[in-house]
Amino acid sequence: MTKLMQHHNNNLKILNKKLSLKKGSKKGEIKSNSYIRLHKQYNKIYSKISNIRNYRNHMIANSLLNNNDYNTIILEDLSVKKMTERTKNQTDHSKQNTKKKRSMRRNILDMGWYDLYSKLQTKAKKTTKNVFKVNPAYTSKTCSNCNHINHNLKLSDREWTCPNCGKYLNRDINASINIKNSFFNNLEK
Ligand SMILES: [Zn+2]
Repeated sequence: MTKLMQHHNNNLKILNKKLSLKKGSKKGEIKSNSYIRLHKQYNKIYSKISNIRNYRNHMIANSLLNNNDYNTIILEDLSVKKMTERTKNQTDHSKQNTKKKRSMRRNILDMGWYDLYSKLQTKAKKTTKNVFKVNPAYTSKTCSNCNHINHNLKLSDREWTCPNCGKYLNRDINASINIKNSFFNNLEK
């Protein structure tokens, strides 16, 4: 998350808290002038965040589509809900881990995955590139070397050694290889 976005997000949180305390926040209550004023401020910051996200996703999509090293882009068919739930369900409840999980959840939501995917797809139509989605099941937990599934892998494990074949794996690179393999395996079927 960019610093600017973080700043806007913090302001949004403060305004949200203030709004909930004002007269007019409850259903059926007549909205006070201060509530209306705060709500306007809230909407303004909210649209600022949307604009930043929109601009950033345009930039990411453009940079992916302008790269001539490849012709096909394969993404995981991510359900944001599932991803955020997965971070919620982690068992380590230490203070530090909770903070990390919270920031991870925020980052996932903040990225606007669906928005990025739809921008990529729309823009790709004007190029020779293709964009595909694959099933994201076990893309991180599967060893790309021997296909062993490591059920003990945690979200915080950025690097790991396969307990089956001993290969040392970088989480993101390993998942990328699995995503690519999954796409080509489906083509063969
Ligand atoms: Zn392995």
